[in-house]
Amino acid sequence: MTGFEALRARMVERDLRGRGIADSRVLDAMGTVPREAFVASDLREFAYEDAPLPIEQGQTISQPYIVARMLEALGLRGSETVLDVGTGSGYAAAVLSRIANRVYTIERHGPLAEVARRRFRELGYDNIEVRHGDGSLGWPEHAPFGGIVVAAGGPEIPQPLLDQLAEGASLVVPVGETLRSQRLVRVVRRPGDRFEAEHLEAVRFVPLVGEAGWLPAELEASEGSTSLEPVMAAPAAGLGPDRPLVRLLRESSEPFDDIGEAELGSLIERIGDARIVLLGEATHGTSEFYRMRARITRELIERKGFRIVAVEADWPDAAKIDHYARLRETPPPEWTAFTRFPTWMWRNREVAEFVEWMRSFNAEREPGDRVSFHGLDLYSLFRSIEAVLDYLDRVDPDTARVARARYGCLTPWERDPAVYGRAALTGTYRTCEAEVVQILRDLLARRMEYAGRDGETFLDAVQNARLVANAERYYRVMYYGSVESWNLRDSHMFDTLSTLLAFRGSEARAVVWEHNSHVGNAAATEMGARGEHNVGQLCRQDFGDAAFLVGFGTDTGTVAAASEWDGPMEIKDVRPSHPESYERLFHETGLEAALLHLREPARPEVRGELEPPRLERAIGVIYRPETELASHYFQASLPHQFDEYVWFDRTRAVAPLIGPELEGVPETYPFGL
Ligand code: SAM
Repeated sequence: MTGFEALRARMVERDLRGRGIADSRVLDAMGTVPREAFVASDLREFAYEDAPLPIEQGQTISQPYIVARMLEALGLRGSETVLDVGTGSGYAAAVLSRIANRVYTIERHGPLAEVARRRFRELGYDNIEVRHGDGSLGWPEHAPFGGIVVAAGGPEIPQPLLDQLAEGASLVVPVGETLRSQRLVRVVRRPGDRFEAEHLEAVRFVPLVGEAGWLPAELEASEGSTSLEPVMAAPAAGLGPDRPLVRLLRESSEPFDDIGEAELGSLIERIGDARIVLLGEATHGTSEFYRMRARITRELIERKGFRIVAVEADWPDAAKIDHYARLRETPPPEWTAFTRFPTWMWRNREVAEFVEWMRSFNAEREPGDRVSFHGLDLYSLFRSIEAVLDYLDRVDPDTARVARARYGCLTPWERDPAVYGRAALTGTYRTCEAEVVQILRDLLARRMEYAGRDGETFLDAVQNARLVANAERYYRVMYYGSVESWNLRDSHMFDTLSTLLAFRGSEARAVVWEHNSHVGNAAATEMGARGEHNVGQLCRQDFGDAAFLVGFGTDTGTVAAASEWDGPMEIKDVRPSHPESYERLFHETGLEAALLHLREPARPEVRGELEPPRLERAIGVIYRPETELASHYFQASLPHQFDEYVWFDRTRAVAPLIGPELEGVPETYPFGL
């Protein structure tokens, strides 16, 4: 088996069958057609990524799962003549040609049609005919069709395509009032010119530009303006704020007004004897999430004896905070904490206030009873990336540009097809690799000197040896990998957490602060279907109900985030939540802030009603509102993902500690200047 064949077989199992594609003819065809032959040569290494990829003329080749989902929805038997609108790279038409008798495909960009034609010829797919033209009008000479699939989204279902559909056949087409997102719809033609439409799922396609799609003038008008932004029609009966599910959520939630005053007694009771409480966040830059996590953590420390706070941060930087918070007497680490991208994630006023609180709490206690603060993340992840970028900027700015884009693909839910284009490998990185690994090794060695001097040698013994031995692998995977790098990182965070708990004894309890995508059980999300696990899932597997998983969500407001890896922090507007998301449901309850218990709710139907997967939003250090659906939403089943959900309808960005804003912070303060 060649490398590509193995990747293709893995894609079929993991991304298609794993997500519910069951039609064996579709699975076989997807397992046969070489996707790598349909992308530019420098993007071949990404051909089997679970993502759309860029092609010429600013278009995309759809994500494999979406291609399979659309073709499965056609319900073909093999003898049909079918129409494919939006040839693009030709990939979907090629797959279709393996499960239909004859394929007619139309592309509005001449050069794309030409390249696709050549590809079919070279691959020997001789039952496909390509035409350059407006596919929204169909191809009447060959109608009626036994199936029509459209790979671009228009404002409504094109009438000419309905007219050209054979009786009993299906049309699968994305439709939406906005250019940004659509619903995938299947329309079946029944006897007597009746059409039955069914909504399949939320999708995001490039626009269908044509007479029965978006007119070019409408597209131009939308550039840089909001004229085609969501114009939500008045909700249909049963879909508005009074629909039963929204009412159920409103009645089952525990609202609160103020984070400082919120009555948390019932939550603390529900947490019971849990040893690990994982507190999530739907973004890395929302003030309310940090303040609420601090509030819950204080209750757990004061009322339940929790003494470990472990966060999604660098170990050495967190060690500096720990030194301050625990009033340690050994010399402090020399470095200033959290001065590298993404600084605002921990270097913000919300965290600073919590650190001050920990310090005063600890001042009243014996050293052995103090609350410690630790970073769980891959050792020096951000600092290491920065060191690599610094080096590459000096030796080869082009490779540095590629590396920046690659680091922007690190989290599975921050993808943007265009970034893959910029992240295509250049040969140069491979020649720099030995040098890069050496820089990283030196960096690690310097950062570990502190751990050697500190009394808590467990870290030295257990963590560091393992890390140094694996450093090369970590950084290689970080640069080239996706699923693998995610799993490596989350396994590492879980191992570090387990080591901390073991170190502080069998009674030790820990609060973890990480993004929802790390703390919610990945098995209940589409990440699980792709073979990705996370800290929440590993905690659930090892600690069962003694791990309590809390998710956080918001509808709209502002957030601190960058536009690209290593880019400056910006305060960005958070788009109102997607109509098919959990967030939209909570928004419709009208509650400003609330807790919702999910593990054993007083009204058990809460679980049942929330169980069918919906979209959930994840914003990390990068926020790309312009491709929000593709980049930031994933499918999840909320009651399986979390034990509790914390809702804030409107939120605002964290207050970063920069320059003059440090005034008023105590002199000893570890974030320093
Ligand atoms: N199925 C394609 C593949 O496998 O590569 C993906 C195509 S891409 C998502 C959508 C394509 O539809 C683009 O190439 C775009 O140029 C084309 N398109 C948009 N409007 C069109 C129209 N009215 N007629 C034909 N093609 C159109």
